[in-house]
Amino acid sequence: MITFVGAGPGDPELLTIKGKKIIDSADVIIYAGSLVNPAVLSDVKETARIYNSAEMNLDEVIEVMKDAESKGLNTARVHTGDPSIYGAIREQIDRLDEMGIESKVVPGVSSAFATAAALKKEYTLPDVSQTVIFTRMEGRTPMPEGESISELASHHATMVIFLSVGFMDDLTEQLIKGGYKESTPVAVVYKASWPEQKIVTGSLKNIASKVKEAGITKTALTVVGDFLGDEYSLSKLYDKAFTTEYRKGTEA
Ligand code: SAH
Repeated sequence: MITFVGAGPGDPELLTIKGKKIIDSADVIIYAGSLVNPAVLSDVKETARIYNSAEMNLDEVIEVMKDAESKGLNTARVHTGDPSIYGAIREQIDRLDEMGIESKVVPGVSSAFATAAALKKEYTLPDVSQTVIFTRMEGRTPMPEGESISELASHHATMVIFLSVGFMDDLTEQLIKGGYKESTPVAVVYKASWPEQKIVTGSLKNIASKVKEAGITKTALTVVGDFLGDEYSLSKLYDKAFTTEYRKGTEA
């Protein structure tokens, strides 16, 4: 059995109990060494064979899984955060399916959520934004039509931007072009949940230079939108006048 495990954003205590059990009992472990905190592997079996996928291509990863499977061994394929976000798991799952090898996925805490936690913010504030866009800048992976940063910015939703902290000038320019005001608040969180976590806050006008000053060039998320501001409406869910399925309000 091959299990894709979301290792969480960094802090080893943000690994799920299920994910930890799978890692700790695995015979073979393939982990994304560029981002996964090695501390999530601190209780693995002494006999476990450990591979760093940062140094491997897709064929090599599949070969290790196939070999393990032929020996009846359990493999944990460990991805950072949640594997469904920029995890490149689909191409692995499809290859395994083609070979008739069973696999499953254990979700993880995405850095998107560790970032919101570090900031103590809510992405979905009433009357501010009820939509969250997870995206990235175009890099070596091109953006499909209709998904440029400026097109997405036109929605004024909360935006969580991965893989792009190296292009802050370009990023902020495109966000403004898309219709965000220069004064829109922005936060950049470097290594959310790691001991070396850094938070830089500012506006679309000044965040790029602040990020440069802080020396942040990778492993950071940029979050943009008025959810970082102080104006919002109170929720209906906890409104004392409002009746819900579980609670009778004063205005029945
Ligand atoms: N599957 C991962 C994302 C992988 S893409 C997840 O759910 O978090 C890699 C990008 O994720 C990095 O370039 C960076 O933008 C972001 N990232 C990963 N870990 C991070 C962390 N601890 N803090 C901030 N950003 C992080």
